[in-house]
Amino acid sequence: MKRIKIKELLSSSPVGSDVTVKGWVRTKRGNKNIAFIALNDGSTINNIQVVVDIPDFDENLLKDISIGACICVKGKLVESHGQGQAVELNAKEIFLYGKADADTYPLQKKGHSMEFMREIAHLRFRTNTFGAVFRIRHAMAFAIHKYFNDKGFFYLHTPIITGSDTEGAGEMFHVTTMDLNNIPKGENKTVDYSTDFFGKETNLTVSGQLEGELGAMALGDIYTFGPTFRAENSNTPRHLAEFWMIEPEMAFYDIRDNMDLAEDFLKYLIRYALDNCKEDLEFLNSMIDKNLLERLNFVISNEFVRLSYTEAVDILTAADRKWDYPVGWGRDLQAEHERYLVEQHFKRPVILTDYPKEIKAFYMKQNDDGKTVKAMDVLFPGIGEIIGGSQREEIYEKLLARIREMKLKEQDYWWYLETRKYGTAPHSGFGLGFERLILFITGMSNIRDVIPFPRTPKNAEF
Ligand code: ATP
Ligand code: MN
Repeated sequence: MKRIKIKELLSSSPVGSDVTVKGWVRTKRGNKNIAFIALNDGSTINNIQVVVDIPDFDENLLKDISIGACICVKGKLVESHGQGQAVELNAKEIFLYGKADADTYPLQKKGHSMEFMREIAHLRFRTNTFGAVFRIRHAMAFAIHKYFNDKGFFYLHTPIITGSDTEGAGEMFHVTTMDLNNIPKGENKTVDYSTDFFGKETNLTVSGQLEGELGAMALGDIYTFGPTFRAENSNTPRHLAEFWMIEPEMAFYDIRDNMDLAEDFLKYLIRYALDNCKEDLEFLNSMIDKNLLERLNFVISNEFVRLSYTEAVDILTAADRKWDYPVGWGRDLQAEHERYLVEQHFKRPVILTDYPKEIKAFYMKQNDDGKTVKAMDVLFPGIGEIIGGSQREEIYEKLLARIREMKLKEQDYWWYLETRKYGTAPHSGFGLGFERLILFITGMSNIRDVIPFPRTPKNAEF
């Protein structure tokens, strides 16, 4: 008999039907005559209760069915008289795929710390919390593609290995096949990359944006959604060395269009989660963060505040608070400042625009004041920056001047500059950190717990 997933079984199988389920034992209890096994197969947060008449089964088999074991159960679906479930499964046959030794299986008891779970990331999927998080992560990835596809955006695959440093967004990981014990050196003792695999210095990408812009200058609206890498040594609950980023890039969008899209996109994703991940969100709301659902609903039903960096600095300067990092026009905002604006001052998401050009990347469109650029950061409660974006400088001379001013290697950007030479057009885009989005949607507090296998300084296990 074909296996039915527990999600489908609970939603559509009529009482009286014979079914086959396969999954992992979450709990087992009972007495001498009857055993109750809570079985979960990952398709839903809900378990199916399997009822076993002990005299009908081999004693040794039942002994081996302990927490964590994987089994196949054939049986009849019946109405449940127990609490918490409408139906249960009366076992007729049980097959044991794999036992889980009760003395060593690490997930015996509930209530392990998140830190411990990270050490057993290969098994943590089997808990309710991580099951919920990764089902939601999947749903969000799907919703992102759906959103853009429905709007006529094209999914563009930008390279993971690059020969250029986008904006210096962060420290990069080198990609090389050189023998590290015997690195070829050139004249002035610098590394001679001409013998390396690509014949030049290459790195893992920090952003697909520059290549994304090339696509937008022909396809109109594109987005990338892929892994990005930053070798920044920042051990925070919001930074990973390997994270996923969604980067739409749109021809003929100005900064205002860009903000409208970012707000609409974020609200769409939150609404999608509320509509499609109800049970997982309810679980997280009760176990992880009691304000989760309220916060998600609040964000979709209120407009984001929009204000300039300069106005934000005024608010922060006037705030009756001691900052760890000083506030002042020209200084970058730190997480504490961003979160003050969102959580204390406005109490809702904020889009900050028009930052000083000195603290932003070379490609951002310069404002007429000569001091600021058309940048936009979307700041979220509990997270800080979730999106960073801008209108791009489309005027060749201005872009080139900025590249020179910032002492970037002009020759590395020849292809980027050519899009401004040939048929240039106003355009805009932004980057949404996928894991920061998942943090917000799930109410989890550490970014290491919303990606299956986190990569952080001194940690690349699994
Ligand atoms: P932050 O100031 O928070 O370090 P950033 O300004 O360096 O971020 P951007 O270069 O603007 O980040 O990247 C776009 C988005 O990617 C950010 O808004 C954030 O959501 C996400 N992001 C950036 N760095 C990381 C990281 N190390 N780990 C996870 N997500 C990140
Ligand atoms: Mn940013």
